[in-house]
Amino acid sequence: MADEQQNLLDERALAEATSDPGARIEALRREIEHHTYLYYAQDAPEISDGAFDSLMHELRELEAAHPVFYDAASPTQRVGGFVGEQFAPVRHARRMYSLDNAMDLSELDAWIERVTEAFGRMVPVVCELKIDGSSIALTYDDGRLVRAATRGDGTTGEDVTANMRAVKDVPLRLRPGTSSGLTNAAAPVELRGEVYLPKSSFEALNEAAVANGKQAFANPRNAAAGSLRQKDASITAGRDLSTFIYAVADERALSVSGQWELLQWLREAGFHVNPDVERCDTVAAVHAFCEQAILRRESLPYEIDGVVVKVDSFLQQESMGYTARAPRWAIAFKFPPEEKTTLLRDITVQVGRTGKLTPVAEMDPVVVAGSTVARATLHNVDEVQRKDVRMGDTVIVRKAGDVIPEVLGPVLALRPADAAVWQMPERCPSCNSPVIREDGEVDYRCISIDCPAQALERLLHWASRGALDIDGMGEEIVSRLVESGRVSDVADYYTLDETELALLDMGRVNKDGEPIRLGETVAKKLVAAIDVSRTRPFARALFGLGIRHVGKTIAELLASTYPTIEALMVASEDDLAAIDGIGPKIARTVYLFLRTPDNVVVIERLRERGVSLEDCALEVGEELPQTLAGLTFVLTGSLVESGMTRDEAGAGLKARGAKVSGSVSKKTSFVVAGEAAGSKYDKAVELGVPVLDEAALLRILEIGEVPAEA
Ligand code: AMP
Repeated sequence: MADEQQNLLDERALAEATSDPGARIEALRREIEHHTYLYYAQDAPEISDGAFDSLMHELRELEAAHPVFYDAASPTQRVGGFVGEQFAPVRHARRMYSLDNAMDLSELDAWIERVTEAFGRMVPVVCELKIDGSSIALTYDDGRLVRAATRGDGTTGEDVTANMRAVKDVPLRLRPGTSSGLTNAAAPVELRGEVYLPKSSFEALNEAAVANGKQAFANPRNAAAGSLRQKDASITAGRDLSTFIYAVADERALSVSGQWELLQWLREAGFHVNPDVERCDTVAAVHAFCEQAILRRESLPYEIDGVVVKVDSFLQQESMGYTARAPRWAIAFKFPPEEKTTLLRDITVQVGRTGKLTPVAEMDPVVVAGSTVARATLHNVDEVQRKDVRMGDTVIVRKAGDVIPEVLGPVLALRPADAAVWQMPERCPSCNSPVIREDGEVDYRCISIDCPAQALERLLHWASRGALDIDGMGEEIVSRLVESGRVSDVADYYTLDETELALLDMGRVNKDGEPIRLGETVAKKLVAAIDVSRTRPFARALFGLGIRHVGKTIAELLASTYPTIEALMVASEDDLAAIDGIGPKIARTVYLFLRTPDNVVVIERLRERGVSLEDCALEVGEELPQTLAGLTFVLTGSLVESGMTRDEAGAGLKARGAKVSGSVSKKTSFVVAGEAAGSKYDKAVELGVPVLDEAALLRILEIGEVPAEA
């Protein structure tokens, strides 16, 4: 301590002596960088926190007094401010690859064998810990940190420079003298590694999140990525993120010959390099490293999920090359699954999007293999009974790396006396309809078309290519329609209008904080697409209904035997089973589907809204001749003679290229007036627009053109 103070005094004296603030500022920056490096990267501080703060304080004051010496790379500039709305995309000059996995030592040996075969002998490899964090790429230009980017999809990541500057062990400048390791000191160099959150910070962060009623991060990887993607870099600064740097984007940028030398250079340049690394020449040494890592894992202050083994020599790496997703010259040895025990509080039932009921274990949260597990699927009732897990049991859970958590079974000795065997509920937990289990099937299902849990999938299926093909009706829009309560079954699509769709709240806000809406252009296209879908062949609507087992081919078989929905609805189970290609199982699901009252209601509403539920002899993708193109019709009153709805009639007109509008103007070609026509009829007369009766309309639909007398 006395020495430290003496040093500081010496430096102050020096400053006074030189009275050159620029030089003093630079000397202070170097000194602070050096101590930051010792503290964060080497874990070997040489001066006390107080002394360090004192150096920082002097630097801040000098910089404030002499703004001409401002430098973004100064240690005083580390904590940035607000990053802005979004993180700009960054295209990686060289792709950021993933790693292939070896799930056990024998798979690791198989990889070593491949490498050995490629070179005719075992070549040196470097073993490193696989840090469970988030990939990061740091670019230095002229020795200064100019950009930090996430991996993203490997090709394009996000610019997180401001946030990474707040991570204390990231050097803002390379250490002096290290640029001699660069092959071209004038060119930028990109270094890569992992940004992670120490275990203690991960736990503290999650405790705070839970205390504030927020969702906890599932694992340190997500926590690291989440902390990095903060709009306010000072929040990132407060998160205690750290890095381990272990790669260079383009090895030609450095005058080092391999991974081992690269790690040495990175250390000298000021990066935090993981100390647990080893260069191995034998399979036995690699195994020993992996086994050691498994033993050390628990006591390390950060989470690791394996060991990465890399061919050392860059030349040899290059000759092995890459697959589409990962280098061939490296492998990630994943740790064996970890098991923990926890309390099974409840077994809930999740309704899948196709109506399948899945029992789910709800457990007291427990950290298994680096991530928090609180739920796990139990797959089906047989599985629950086979494993004999019951509510109140202490269960063993396991998780291997990124693999989904699994309940292995109960600890019987700890079972409460009153723990009852679990049964599947008789009614759907989402819609309360009775659930069914077909003979020979493991799964129970809810077959109600009105079940909200299934609504989204059914709606998307109806709009999908092979079904009614409503162009533009994708997951985002459909989710919003469902969430807003506006659409809950497929018939609701046909009640949407342009104005309403244009105003649909997309659940996001623009930079002024106003809700983003769907907008007129998209709304218009969607309404047109919905209209077109009314006239698709019956088989496609049948497929679109999402009846279990009814794929496109079965739908076509059904439609060719029963060309209208009415005919199909009165067919008995035996009638259906008699169709060539349709067995009793399919016959039963179709029969049951068409007898479920909720489904009948939806079918009825589809028909009312003009969806063709019969075969109009149109082949998939085939269009009727557009004989009515250029004409605009307005329909008013009811079509009593034919019993058609206006939507149905409209669909028929549109199928031949006509436009159908809701209001009469001078541009209207014809107004079709049914019984009790109202103001639209009056308007037509007023504007001199020709008025047709229902008979004329039927004739148009029949012959596909406007008869001469009209
Ligand atoms: P995965 O995401 O499971 O395919 O694993 C690949 C990722 O592991 C890489 O993208 C890195 O972010 C990460 N990783 C962690 N530690 C290392 C290491 N020592 N060497 C290479 N990659 C690592």
